[in-house]
Amino acid sequence: MLVLGIETSCDETGVALYHSEQGLLAHALYSQIALHAEYGGVVPELASRDHIRKLLPLVDEVLEKASLSKADIDAVAYTKGPGLIGALLVGACTGRAIAMGLGVPAIGVHHMEGHLLAPQLEDSPPPYPFVALLVSGGHTQLIEVQALGEYTLLGESLDDAAGEAFDKAAKMLDLDYPGGPRLAAMAEQGEAGRFKFPRPMCDRPGLDFSFSGLKTFTLNTVTKHALDDGLPDDQTCADIAHAFQEAVADTLVIKCRRALEQCGMKSLVIAGGVSANTRLRQKLEAALAKMGAKVFYARHEFCTDNGAMIAYAGCQRLLAGQSETLAVEVRPRWPMTELAGLSTAKAE
Ligand code: ATP
Ligand code: MG
Ligand code: FE
Repeated sequence: MLVLGIETSCDETGVALYHSEQGLLAHALYSQIALHAEYGGVVPELASRDHIRKLLPLVDEVLEKASLSKADIDAVAYTKGPGLIGALLVGACTGRAIAMGLGVPAIGVHHMEGHLLAPQLEDSPPPYPFVALLVSGGHTQLIEVQALGEYTLLGESLDDAAGEAFDKAAKMLDLDYPGGPRLAAMAEQGEAGRFKFPRPMCDRPGLDFSFSGLKTFTLNTVTKHALDDGLPDDQTCADIAHAFQEAVADTLVIKCRRALEQCGMKSLVIAGGVSANTRLRQKLEAALAKMGAKVFYARHEFCTDNGAMIAYAGCQRLLAGQSETLAVEVRPRWPMTELAGLSTAKAE
């Protein structure tokens, strides 16, 4: 089964072709980062309009890359939520229309299930069951995964998501949007141990997170060391970036270990933009090796938003017989625990 995958939930237009037997055949991504950079964050209406401009050319591009034509497409998967409503509608309307025009089924995919399943596109995919840490721009969640669609929420952030905290801390250090990867690069120049940032909510039981205090701590540190231009010197900025990244990574590691112990599991999947963070991967690998557990993640480009994860997730659900009606429905807010498993009733 050849599935065309479409992702438009935020500021990336992602398109891919995934074949159930042959694997990923082609993918293409257009990032709107430059468009939103001057505003310091995503402007929803600009995002929707840009998805309209880029989506169909990207569909043509992946077909050409795979030397296939529209007639070869057996089904269409598009992101149905959560995300920006206008951006979602572009992908959903286009995806649904392509499917109707071709007379093939369509499936609306949960964006976070897409992230969660992205590591399965790699050579050694994680075996079920596992614990998943979803760490992205909008989510920080620990989830017990028994099988595809069988999710139990173990804990989540009570305020900012990890990626959001990275982006906000980066802004305080005068780094351009989206600052997460830039802060991570800056942290490499930082001196270990100069600043010690708190590890929020780690001294009490439970699996929830909170990153807003860390954000305030960062702001206070920046302000305290600021020179006349409002920023600390370059080395101090790097030292702050280093301390911030260590604190976020350690906090995530502590809770991941706790979740694995609680569930009696030995496999951890990390997914979403922050799972691209090298320091987090190193720390998790070291900590999990000590407990005989293993961490799985996607290649860098499939940690952040992409069409491949949507094509893959959609394919799994389509193979199980699920599909959408002709109605175009998007869900800007959509808890992943509401999803049905593969053996359960067909999608709404
Ligand atoms: P969601 O998936 O929750 O709807 P999103 O789609 O905006 O949110 P992603 O695309 O999964 O989020 O990830 C983007 C986030 O990941 C941004 O906050 C970005 O700063 C962060 N990020 C990406 N790479 C890194 C990195 N190497 N280190 C830290 N953060 C990173
Ligand atoms: Mg994005
Ligand atoms: Fe995402």
